[in-house]
Amino acid sequence: MSLSTRKAIVITAVATVFLVANIWIVTNWLEERGVIGFAEHIKAEYLTGTAITIIVVLLILLVKPGAERAGVLRRCPVCEHVLLGRGKYCGECGSRV
Ligand SMILES: [Zn+2]
Repeated sequence: MSLSTRKAIVITAVATVFLVANIWIVTNWLEERGVIGFAEHIKAEYLTGTAITIIVVLLILLVKPGAERAGVLRRCPVCEHVLLGRGKYCGECGSRV
């Protein structure tokens, strides 16, 4: 975990606590601005059960292939050629990887 990730987590936690502590003010402000009504309209019109199912299935399917994620399959950063073995140079374009 890098330092910037930790900073982001701390800032997010502090912002969340402030937001929850002032939840009624935030809610009233959103109601006055019409954001809640707009969100209800979007939910009723576009976020039906079928649409949510399709979104979830796409999120599941749109992950990196298992071999590439595990680091078994490597690709050249220059030409995207699949690298076999542990060599330091790309067999296609000769770039150092
Ligand atoms: Zn290459």
